[in-house]
Amino acid sequence: MAHHEIPLSSPDITKHEEELVMEVLRSRRLSIGPMQERFESLVAQRCGTTHAIACSSGTAGLHMVMVALGIGPGDEVITTPFSFIASANAILYVGAKPVFVDICPSSLNASPELIEKAITPRTKAILAVEAFGNPKFFDEYQKIAAKHEIPLIEDSCEALGTVYRGVPAGSFGRAGVFGFYPNKQITTGEGGMIVTNDDHLADACRSLRNQGRAVAGRGSIAGGSTAGSWLHHERLGFNYRMSEINAALGVAQMERLDQLIERRNDTANRYIERLLDVPDLMLPTIDPECSVMSWFVFVVRLAAGYTREERDRVIAGLRMHEIGAGDYFPCIHLQPIYQRAMGLPAGSYPIAESVSQRTIALPFYADLTRRDVDLVAQTLELMISRENLARRD
Ligand SMILES: *Cc1c(COP(=O)(O)O)cnc(C)c1O
Repeated sequence: MAHHEIPLSSPDITKHEEELVMEVLRSRRLSIGPMQERFESLVAQRCGTTHAIACSSGTAGLHMVMVALGIGPGDEVITTPFSFIASANAILYVGAKPVFVDICPSSLNASPELIEKAITPRTKAILAVEAFGNPKFFDEYQKIAAKHEIPLIEDSCEALGTVYRGVPAGSFGRAGVFGFYPNKQITTGEGGMIVTNDDHLADACRSLRNQGRAVAGRGSIAGGSTAGSWLHHERLGFNYRMSEINAALGVAQMERLDQLIERRNDTANRYIERLLDVPDLMLPTIDPECSVMSWFVFVVRLAAGYTREERDRVIAGLRMHEIGAGDYFPCIHLQPIYQRAMGLPAGSYPIAESVSQRTIALPFYADLTRRDVDLVAQTLELMISRENLARRD
């Protein structure tokens, strides 16, 4: 079996990244400089938006968008229970209430019908997530948001580069947010980016990330002598800035984005080819309207009827063979913090709950070799057949 470790994810860093990071270090300009601007314009260009605002993480970006939209206590925001916890946490940060709706079992994205049913006079936004990069329903979310005159916030942290019905991920919503943790399509170590066409929202986010300072050249206190100065703070802001070192990584990675997406696509296709005929295994399905699928992770699922314990044993078996595997994602509403905050009982979102106990994230990164994909597929098949044998005894 595996004679070397195959991690779940691994960033793809080349000489180009090293050179740009060194360029920043040699320049002595380590924050608020030209690299951030270069990174922002590359992402804005890619998403076709007028603004991109770099920040310290995807989570920070989501938090700022919530604040900038004025969402707060008493407000409801509709979102998915099947996501990384940061998407719902952004709603709790501002004291608003997450209203979860169940997901569609094939795309794993929130059901548009259930979103519409969940809208009340207190609904202030829809916060939607492209699960594992899958953009299904984002055109429908847009229509629902427009019809009810509420903003669509797009947590596109898993979907940089995805294009659906001609629209790049990130640009469906009033604002889209990307994250650049090392397991994402591109990484800055830590980092995030807000994209939007809304000038007012963009200015608010630029101010919020920089301790509530006025945006340069747009001091809002007419005639005020200190407006726009370093120690003039107009609102309760944060330090959510991105350093020039992180931005340099971002520039280098954006310049290689097409190549990275292509290689991740090759890996996904190889997995699909190798796993298509494995009994009791369900593979991800991508809508043909998705002209560019930018895969975040490759998540397969055991057939209905498999228990969480069986799935966990398959994951443990892969890990025993030094193959990284993950249980992406446990449902948010069942996390201890959400149990304390909201106390939603198990069974509240049956599809999300059933799916989440059967998913297995497989090793997935740009330079994963075909041989390693074959090895992972072979080992996974073996682990599943072992579970089937155990069942029959
Ligand atoms: C990664 C991720 C985030 C958070 O990004 P960070 O940069 O790690 O803060 C938010 N939402 C989703 C859906 C993610 O996958």
